[in-house]
Amino acid sequence: MKLLNYCKLSIQSSAANEAFARSTVAAFCASLNPTLEQINDIKTAVSEAVNNCVIHGYAGGSGEIYIEVALFDSEVSIQIQDQGCGIPNVNEAMQPFFTGKPQEERSGMGFTLMQAFMDEVDVVSTLGQGTTVVMRKRLDSHA
Ligand code: ATP
Ligand code: MG
Repeated sequence: MKLLNYCKLSIQSSAANEAFARSTVAAFCASLNPTLEQINDIKTAVSEAVNNCVIHGYAGGSGEIYIEVALFDSEVSIQIQDQGCGIPNVNEAMQPFFTGKPQEERSGMGFTLMQAFMDEVDVVSTLGQGTTVVMRKRLDSHA
């Protein structure tokens, strides 16, 4: 697998920056010539991961979100990281319909959507230190 290109982006944690992150990552992937469906899948997954950093990781407070995108010949790897509160139990958090904020009427489907739209989702989290989500998707060339 050959690394073709990569970018690193750091944004302030805010709901307003979610659209910027989603569009920027999608634009960066364009050189791999993805289908519209693949681009939309990536946008949805990035949106869910960034929203989680804003809503849960930093709980609406200030913080920084680090995004790295690596393009390989037929695959994209996207890492989204926060230095927020961390997840007590990652396996439980990734179950469909699990939410740590039921009082806010969240559906608990963020991780499930990431898994549905990407080929692989890995989550590493340490309480009090933060959370790293790495997502991979195969993008076979349509040129
Ligand atoms: P939805 O995404 O459907 O609005 P949700 O965010 O609660 O609801 P998921 O995105 O699946 O659902 O996340 C499940 C739970 O994992 C969250 O409720 C939260 O407790 C925890 N979590 C997810 N991401 C983070 C993060 N970056 N930092 C801390 N906790 C997180
Ligand atoms: Mg979520």
